[in-house]
Amino acid sequence: MRRITAIRNGTVITPSKTIKNGVVIFEDEKIIAVDRETDIRIPKRAGIIDASGKIVAPGFIDIHVHGGRGRDVMEGSYEAINELAKFVASHGTTAFLPTTVSASRGDLLNAVKAVKAAMERGTEGAEVLGVHLEGPYINPEKLGAHDAEYVRLPSLDEIRELLEASSHTIKIVTLAPEVKGSKELMTELRKFGIVASVGHSNATYSEVVKAIKHGATHAAHTFNEMRGLHHREPGVVGAVLVQDELTAELISDNIHVHPAAMKLLIRTKGTNKVVLVTDAAQAAGMPDGEYKVGKKDVVVRNGVCRLESGELAGSTITMDGAVRNVMKSVGLPLKTAIEMATINPAVTINVDKDKGSLEPGKDADIIIIDKEVNVYVTIVKGKVVYKL
Ligand SMILES: [Zn+2]
Repeated sequence: MRRITAIRNGTVITPSKTIKNGVVIFEDEKIIAVDRETDIRIPKRAGIIDASGKIVAPGFIDIHVHGGRGRDVMEGSYEAINELAKFVASHGTTAFLPTTVSASRGDLLNAVKAVKAAMERGTEGAEVLGVHLEGPYINPEKLGAHDAEYVRLPSLDEIRELLEASSHTIKIVTLAPEVKGSKELMTELRKFGIVASVGHSNATYSEVVKAIKHGATHAAHTFNEMRGLHHREPGVVGAVLVQDELTAELISDNIHVHPAAMKLLIRTKGTNKVVLVTDAAQAAGMPDGEYKVGKKDVVVRNGVCRLESGELAGSTITMDGAVRNVMKSVGLPLKTAIEMATINPAVTINVDKDKGSLEPGKDADIIIIDKEVNVYVTIVKGKVVYKL
């Protein structure tokens, strides 16, 4: 028999409106109805989840996350991905792309195989939607926390091996379009519908415009590790700001990007083109101390994660915090901030048919939060995976 559940008494955020005293009904893993309590019939046999005084929203989708609670995607094991899936679910994320860093071919192969295993077996937390391959085909002048030793020119042979090993589950490749061989790489990615993302790049404005012609549709952590805006050479940042073809990631931890720059990005791109990401490292959800990003040592003080050189090395933010910050720092309403963490990432990686909003026919990926974005319940495909 099919299992039916109704979430009652909460304020429900839907694409068209916010419904006070709304009801969301889901049957097994799919949402079947969303409406006002007065306009809906709740089946007698439905299990009830009470959301009185709370907000019912779609679950967050984090398309750029390297680790958390002491685990790292580069460990290359199912266990690491599963633990990360549980951790992010406790912060309202219902689906994510485990993200790699520049590493040896062997380590990258292991990592993408582990992600594939987590997709096949499923996790005890958020759903794994595929891989975000960040690097290794980036510009050594814009390394961030990436290890120079493993940064290299694009290789079609290598990307084909990675695609094969991942059973074509790679969803995003972050690359520097100005390096030799990236045009061929982007052409290959386009064949498979993989998102080419401009990042860790020192490209000029016109090089990014050219990259868009070759299929680039996205930009990794806007402002961070990309050529900045100059009025005669608008650089990567200038291209991200004015080229409508590009969706733009934003790490809204108030550390990676100044609130005024966040405002500039959101006002210029529009709220439907900005995607909140955590870019979180294994130190997320852990006390201050010494950790790793890939093979590099990092130190976390007051939640800020830095290399020995002092450079920022991934964040310790979680998606609930990202949404909270963008509301406070930029002054966005809750509904808009949530859309930047739900439907926008879903559209970016082309899963919006099933994910990203509370609508009949979509997956029952649902969170119950309060107006400060504290997470009380996380439901992934109809299953409660986290409860405060
Ligand atoms: Zn990065």
